[in-house]
Amino acid sequence: MKIQNCKIKQIIVLAMILIMMTILLASLSVNSNSVDFQENEPKRTWNEREIIMDWELTQADGTILKVERVSGGFNNPFHFYRINGYTLQYDRNIRSWCWAYQDETGHLRPTEYPAHLFDPEELGFEKDIRRSEEVTIKIIQEILETFIESDIPGMRRRPSHIINMRNTPNRCPTNGEVQSIVIYISLDDQGPHEFPTDEYVMKFDALNEYYQAVSYGKLNITSHYFFYNSSILSSYFTEQDSTNLNGYTDANALLLREQEIALYSIASLDTLQTKNIDIDINEDTVVDNVTIILRGDFGNKTNSILGYYRRRIFIPEGMDKEDPFFNPTINNIPVRNLIFHYENVVLDGSLGNFALAHEFGHALGFPDLYSYIDIDILPVGPWDIMAEYHPYYSDSLPSMSAYIKYKYTNWIEPADIPLIKLARDSTYTIMPLTNYIPEKYVALRIKAPLGGTNEYFIIENRRKDPSAIVDGSLPGS
Ligand SMILES: [Zn+2]
Repeated sequence: MKIQNCKIKQIIVLAMILIMMTILLASLSVNSNSVDFQENEPKRTWNEREIIMDWELTQADGTILKVERVSGGFNNPFHFYRINGYTLQYDRNIRSWCWAYQDETGHLRPTEYPAHLFDPEELGFEKDIRRSEEVTIKIIQEILETFIESDIPGMRRRPSHIINMRNTPNRCPTNGEVQSIVIYISLDDQGPHEFPTDEYVMKFDALNEYYQAVSYGKLNITSHYFFYNSSILSSYFTEQDSTNLNGYTDANALLLREQEIALYSIASLDTLQTKNIDIDINEDTVVDNVTIILRGDFGNKTNSILGYYRRRIFIPEGMDKEDPFFNPTINNIPVRNLIFHYENVVLDGSLGNFALAHEFGHALGFPDLYSYIDIDILPVGPWDIMAEYHPYYSDSLPSMSAYIKYKYTNWIEPADIPLIKLARDSTYTIMPLTNYIPEKYVALRIKAPLGGTNEYFIIENRRKDPSAIVDGSLPGS
């Protein structure tokens, strides 16, 4: 984690830690039979600090609701909206906010009564309806467990935090036709929009051209575009300060907010629009790829794949499996992994092209090839798309190395990259990596003399062609 030298931030971080510890202790003691509550003790709360803000929500017919947005407080790990104390829930079928009730499993559900058409008092509804304590404990435990399990420094400040993707099941297929779902999220205060614009179509076409080239025509990505108008304000994705109480407090809080809006956007997809798209082409019963783009400029925020390391947040243990919020599906097929991008990064010239291609590499199972800690080494540097971004990249991006192709795809076969013994006067011809010819070598492996059985050097031939989609901006060649 970066060291913060601002006192206020330290206090906020300290407060967050205390809150998290309180939550952890509370959840531990509730689950432990040996701890009894004293009878006269007031009922425990998760977090005494409740932030209430004036807010507006829009109904399907355009009616604006003046509401209170409540974050923090009892049984409220995220936030909810209310009017005069009556809780609201969004009904995605009628795209309107309705008065809420707590169902038999303890979850909040929308009633069939839209808030602008019915008076909750006349209907006899109760005030201050929330999730049950039990459900809240489960949600928070899941979140805490995932945070505690994560040994990745900085959690989210790095472009991506996926360490061992090799063993990640449910990858996007590396061969054939992939149907990718792209959802563009527009926030409530961002005004009208159009999606996909020509600019976006060009970006995703370029992504496909890149992967067609590096896979030697074995992978074809078709993007299907959707948009989602969120009732969340853009201040929600800006850091909290005295002028923006709605902002996030730290990297983990932001991560939760990204997940929250991503889940809402997936829930908003209309089955009629997606039913003819083969979203699980490799039939591993998981949607092949979902890419989320958050509209607007939120500074130099990087993007991440949420699902890979927080898988269990999507389907928390013991949660109601039918709950669309925590178990997102598209056409009844679960979504386990997704790519989350910020628009200003995606539309930032070659950085955007790089970000789309790099993150899609993760969807295919590729690992990062840069150091997660700030040290002055460049393991592979600008020679691999899975390394870090280099500002001199043009429209042409680097390929991934022969090793990645060999290890994580079948774009090249083991025979294309043989293990050889160097001998005097031996001659080998290696084809440029961008120019695959069957039965010619793409690269050679040479056993590392002092290494173990699995250590070797790889020699590959990279050819710079400024007019090519791939490897046109390689340095020093
Ligand atoms: Zn990465």
